[in-house]
Amino acid sequence: MSTVVGRYAPSPSGRMHLGNLCCCLLAWLSAKAQGGRVVLRIEDLDPERCPRHFADQLEADLAWLGLAADEGGSAGGPAGPYYQSQRSAIYQQYYDKLAAMGLVYPCFCSRSQLHAADAPHRSDGQVIYPGTCRNLTPAQIAEKSAKRPPAWRVRVPDEEIAFVDRHLGPYAENLARDCGDFYLRRADGIFAYQLAVVVDDALMGVTEVVRGADLLSSTPRQLWLYRMLGLTPPRFCHMPLLLAPDGRRLSKRDGDVSLEHLQARYTPAEIVGRLAWVCGLQPSPDPRTPAQLIHDFDWARVPKTDILLPEGLF
Ligand code: GLU
Repeated sequence: MSTVVGRYAPSPSGRMHLGNLCCCLLAWLSAKAQGGRVVLRIEDLDPERCPRHFADQLEADLAWLGLAADEGGSAGGPAGPYYQSQRSAIYQQYYDKLAAMGLVYPCFCSRSQLHAADAPHRSDGQVIYPGTCRNLTPAQIAEKSAKRPPAWRVRVPDEEIAFVDRHLGPYAENLARDCGDFYLRRADGIFAYQLAVVVDDALMGVTEVVRGADLLSSTPRQLWLYRMLGLTPPRFCHMPLLLAPDGRRLSKRDGDVSLEHLQARYTPAEIVGRLAWVCGLQPSPDPRTPAQLIHDFDWARVPKTDILLPEGLF
């Protein structure tokens, strides 16, 4: 059996919070329980939002928790660099392949046009692009380009892309109907997450992607890109989101779930043990190191719906 390669792909725009941490824990445990290893890739496509010091802090936090990756991050490795902000030339090659297939077109729609009141929305709240700029003539493109630089979209087929998620089961989307042509590149030249994540997971030899269920609906787009680019997709395993005791999504604004606050109050094993308990991985919130959880790790025990953090647990 070939080695399992898992990964964490955080976008460090602040200190880690319990949600990010839970994702790292499950990705690490899933890979290690299969005898695999873990790659750390820093998704700092927008370096202004994700300055380097947050990535360095994240690595220090992972090491403190006992969740250090085996490859990537500042330690580098054979598929480096592991910072998306340093990989534009690589993304360009794959972008060019899609462009050569005639799949890429410039989009001049403004944010307000896209978010017009009557715009159709996906189930996750994102706008389904109605194809406004899909068939512009060369003359129209030249005229519009003179006024504002375009963003670039990829033309998706009217096709259902289905897959079986390792944890959440079957999922499918018709790309044209449920998603619409999506961005490959922003007007400022920054490549889009959907392209970068596919290229990186493929080139870094990732065989198993563990990430939050909020990205389940990105997976059909990514699977289609794998196919168009002739790359081998990993297995996908989406985990439930961790919610604050009042049901809100955890965010970096919730100071009390940020590692800064937690580190001052708890040992690493106390944090990991409590998280493992809410994820169904042990019967009590007793302190545990990640390594102690490998042996009994089983996705079947992890809830499939959002996890409410019990009041007062942290
Ligand atoms: N960088 C993304 C995030 O932090 C995760 C992307 C992924 O796991 O595919 O939300």
